[in-house]
Amino acid sequence: MFLRKLSSSLVALFLSFSSLFSQDFYGPKTFIDILKSNFPLKNKPEPISSIQNLEHVIFFDQSMSNYISIGDNNSLKIESAQATIANGSIKLGSGTYSDVMRGIFQILDRNTSVLSTEQLTGEYVIHPELMSYYAIDADAATGASSASTILVRDKSSYYLSSKNTKSHLVFKFSGTSAAVKIQAMSRYDYNSTVENYPYEKNASWSSSQYLKMDTNGVTLVSNSSEATSFIMADANDLIQISFTDKSDFNPHSTSWQTNSFADWPAKPAPWAYLDSQLKSSTFYDAVDEYYDAQLGDSESSHIAADSALQKIISTLSRKNESLRYSKNAYLTFRKSLLSNRFGAVDMYNSVMGEKTVENVYFTNAADDNGSFHPFMVIATHNAHSGPQHLINVPRPPGDGQSAGGYENQKITRNAVIEAKLVKIPLKDYGLINKVTDNDLSPYGSLAIDANVPEAEWNVDNHTSLASLGIAADGVVIYPVTNNTLVYSITAGEVTTTGSHVGRGMGFHYHADGHSLTGNGINLYNLDDYNGSSHPPLIGFIFDGVALYGKHESGYSNHEGYSNNLDEYGGHSHGDYSYHYHAFQKDTTSKGKNSSVDYTAHILFRAAFKGDINQVPGLFDLNSSQFKNNDLKRYVGAKGTVVEDTSSSGPLSIAGQIFNLVPHEHTLQDNYPNPFNPSTSITFGLSENTPSKIVIYNLIGQKVKSFNFQNLNAGYHTVSWNATNITGDPVSAGVYFYQLQTKSQIKTKKMILLK
Ligand SMILES: [Zn+2]
Ligand SMILES: [Zn+2]
Repeated sequence: MFLRKLSSSLVALFLSFSSLFSQDFYGPKTFIDILKSNFPLKNKPEPISSIQNLEHVIFFDQSMSNYISIGDNNSLKIESAQATIANGSIKLGSGTYSDVMRGIFQILDRNTSVLSTEQLTGEYVIHPELMSYYAIDADAATGASSASTILVRDKSSYYLSSKNTKSHLVFKFSGTSAAVKIQAMSRYDYNSTVENYPYEKNASWSSSQYLKMDTNGVTLVSNSSEATSFIMADANDLIQISFTDKSDFNPHSTSWQTNSFADWPAKPAPWAYLDSQLKSSTFYDAVDEYYDAQLGDSESSHIAADSALQKIISTLSRKNESLRYSKNAYLTFRKSLLSNRFGAVDMYNSVMGEKTVENVYFTNAADDNGSFHPFMVIATHNAHSGPQHLINVPRPPGDGQSAGGYENQKITRNAVIEAKLVKIPLKDYGLINKVTDNDLSPYGSLAIDANVPEAEWNVDNHTSLASLGIAADGVVIYPVTNNTLVYSITAGEVTTTGSHVGRGMGFHYHADGHSLTGNGINLYNLDDYNGSSHPPLIGFIFDGVALYGKHESGYSNHEGYSNNLDEYGGHSHGDYSYHYHAFQKDTTSKGKNSSVDYTAHILFRAAFKGDINQVPGLFDLNSSQFKNNDLKRYVGAKGTVVEDTSSSGPLSIAGQIFNLVPHEHTLQDNYPNPFNPSTSITFGLSENTPSKIVIYNLIGQKVKSFNFQNLNAGYHTVSWNATNITGDPVSAGVYFYQLQTKSQIKTKKMILLK
């Protein structure tokens, strides 16, 4: 009997150990990582059905053994790359997503952006899919009459840093998509004085120039008989970019609206990426030095962020409060955000290879009543790192700049980079029971905006008019409905990736693009599910609740697969406390003449399940928070950090100074442990008394001593950088640290790794 009891408690012990590790936190692959991964073999793509505006194509030679590609490593070269066909399936280059994506081009009629006043011309500008703000141009001086090679040139950011007036070639396609000759009809220079389409035809360019591709590259030849006969193959056969008729993302087959494109916002003028206020001293001067160690994405910043969370945990625990999730959930999400780099130029002023999220740091400030509100602060450019095909959205939002309804408005097919400071609450504020328990009256809501009576407030409308959370790529998430309370995918308002741009050209998600293309270039993809026990962590909502990818039927062994989601789209299971999932929902849309059944792909529904009533600054996202007296402490503004003791106490507190005093002298576990190169040792004194922290090696020799004559009662932290009394580094191994006071000695062990 006794033995049985013992063994069952041993089992319980093992179970509790294993449950410590049973939460599977991992972020989705970033776009750069997707580019490096293998592209699944597909059937060779067919020629497009007709050569027309907006098509995404791959230019092959007749044997499909070569295709036109932009250069690797962000180069602006145009090359010929090798394709291989075996057993009917095709492999481009060495077979990565990068090889495929670099071979995709979109052809745009040269009047595409001004169709409110102009007609289609049948003459096309060719844009690389990975650099949609660039276009193919001659590799020649302004005013040249001919060129031998072509390259890719920035067509859109001319009025930022580059005053280069060279711009792009305009092509004509003769023949069919199965056998076409491509003629460089004309060349345009940038000219800011030309209205609407600020480009001017270069009079000396000779139109008798044709593309020729061979294994050596792509050149211009003057004789049409030497020109290559290309196949313009449909890129959608390899990776879905365009809308198919009656797809879930455009169930009414809304046609592509021909309104002219919205102007770049005049105020604030679009800025060059490198001038972003998140990168400049404006940001770094605004943040208190206390948080500096967490900035950036170096290994030491990860350690500092980890240590900051540890301090938050102990702050909260003194008030019997806690984080909503384990430390690892937040650290995993932080790394996801920081690992995003631009792998495409698909947002105005984006720069290949640069960070889309600058900083993620954990603040720990108290309100004026002494209640702590720790946040994960995310300094993000709100920019997607991959192509979004915004130009293909059938019916994007209007710019709201002219009266007379949508028909008279310009529409948003371009996105600009922004600078946002998103705050995710870390403290567990609990969950609500019914949707209206969350008071949105200080903020307004979709329901109030649409004059929905209070009795009809529900999980679809009792929510923000704008953003609700942030995805793992640093892009904000909006409700699944638009402001007329219709699912935005119903009205053909978003891309196949679930996103679009609103007024002011701010980019955001409305829907879950994962479901459309499965394994593709979305926020998260099927590939992310391999080797996991739960879908990837893809976002955090402003109520502090985590958002995971949808449960995939191919992964029915995943934890939580059979735990139904509630009306908010959330559930809890095993060791995962309450969290949201993306999900799908069969629905019917009643259009003007017909009703359509389709599946809504929901990234995040709308209403919060987490209690938001106590969260300060819930919907404030901009950098003016640094100047707002009530909010600046929560974004870690300079001067808002106050230590709780005269020395280096463990807390950062805004507002008032607290006397947190332990009942007896205490020595906490050092952090991190094991460590390299340094660790923090926190100890608490119950009274004002002389004290020492002394470090010994394994054989009892004193290595270092921190002596304090006059520390106040309360908590204090010392940092040991693994050096001895003379300042020389000590060797790796086990060390003991001791708190010595007149009345007590307390000892703990730590491990230095090298
Ligand atoms: Zn929107
Ligand atoms: Zn789950």
